Amino acid sequence: MSKMNKLFFVDCSKAAECCNKAQYKEANPLEKFKLKFHLLFCSTCRKLASTNTRLTETLKKSKIEPCPEAQKKKWKDSIKKEYAEDNA
Ligand SMILES: [Zn+2]
Repeated sequence: MSKMNKLFFVDCSKAAECCNKAQYKEANPLEKFKLKFHLLFCSTCRKLASTNTRLTETLKKSKIEPCPEAQKKKWKDSIKKEYAEDNA
């Protein structure tokens, strides 16, 4: 691998780390860039990242508003469905 490639190509575990940091707004611009770059060609991490984002948003929503049971069930079902699709 050339120096350039080493700088921008991160492996999946490193990408996951950047992804988690980005979730908590702790990633620096270079890390965010590397993560985005990795997601361009790695479908596994892309799925992981989109699932993570949705989970975080679901959590945020459930904290802000009082959450009716029916809505909770709807979210749970949609998350379950996505996991099932990912693991199919
Ligand atoms: Zn990956």
